[in-house]
Amino acid sequence: MERPVYVIGHRSPDTDSVCSAIAYAALKNRLGEQNVRPARAGELNAETAFVLRRFEVPTPELLTDAAGLDLILVDHNEVGQALPHIEGANILEIWEHHRIGDLRLPRPILFHCEPVGATATLIGELYFLRQLTPTPAMAGLLLASILSDTLMFRSPTATAQDRAMAARLAPLASVDPEVLGAQLLRLRASAAEQKSAAELVRGDFKEFLFAGLRVGIAQVEVTRPDALGAQQADLFRELKALREAAGLAQMILMVTDLENRASDLWFVGERPEVFERAFGRLEGGVVHLPGCMSRKQQVVPLLEAAFAGAP
Ligand code: MN
Ligand code: MN
Repeated sequence: MERPVYVIGHRSPDTDSVCSAIAYAALKNRLGEQNVRPARAGELNAETAFVLRRFEVPTPELLTDAAGLDLILVDHNEVGQALPHIEGANILEIWEHHRIGDLRLPRPILFHCEPVGATATLIGELYFLRQLTPTPAMAGLLLASILSDTLMFRSPTATAQDRAMAARLAPLASVDPEVLGAQLLRLRASAAEQKSAAELVRGDFKEFLFAGLRVGIAQVEVTRPDALGAQQADLFRELKALREAAGLAQMILMVTDLENRASDLWFVGERPEVFERAFGRLEGGVVHLPGCMSRKQQVVPLLEAAFAGAP
């Protein structure tokens, strides 16, 4: 048996991370690379579990340590978001749509990063480039990932490329994107409202490095402005606990209101003046940002610039 190559997304995996890994491994298999397998870097969230059930695709293997493994990364390229000991892995390829991070590699590799709404759009393009039609299940996973990552094309990260790919995949999966997208959004919002404060801050959590300081940013989607109001004290306590446990300089919770297309940023940590330089004045630890929906496009770059300009 040939040594396995695992395709894997980021920690706290989302639908794009899990499904792009599955669909890319399936593409490699069809191209004759039988040793390529999908994997995941954490527990599935409710949305991703629903998508795998909906398209009858098994849950990929869980990996907890990268040391010594042959890996293809999808949907991430920052050390803080990858499996532990990623520096000890043999990374063969990266397929990405986030900022270029801090992963240093000893040799040249295939690194494809494109500012589209989902990694799944890039994986879908690879199928068509190779003149292979995704199976209904793979088309379904890729479509769900595009809808999920772009918040059904409401996010400013959505591009014409994502829309074109979704339109191409939908008939192959025999799915109405409006119906599937509405299901995903409902699932996400209701999942958020049923979760404990501890689950919310650790769910869609990502870590970033700004000017040498580690900052955690979690995101939660809701469908009404005050959905988490009753949990505010618990949430702030959890944000502080997570910041301390993980040794982060700052911990931010992005509460995104899908209906009203706005986010509240909840802040705890050091250097609040750097945060305020990026987003404006905190009131009770919160700043309200109309039109803000994307962590990678509307939060991370502003914070990075504020840290870079800070004395
Ligand atoms: Mn992702
Ligand atoms: Mn993604």
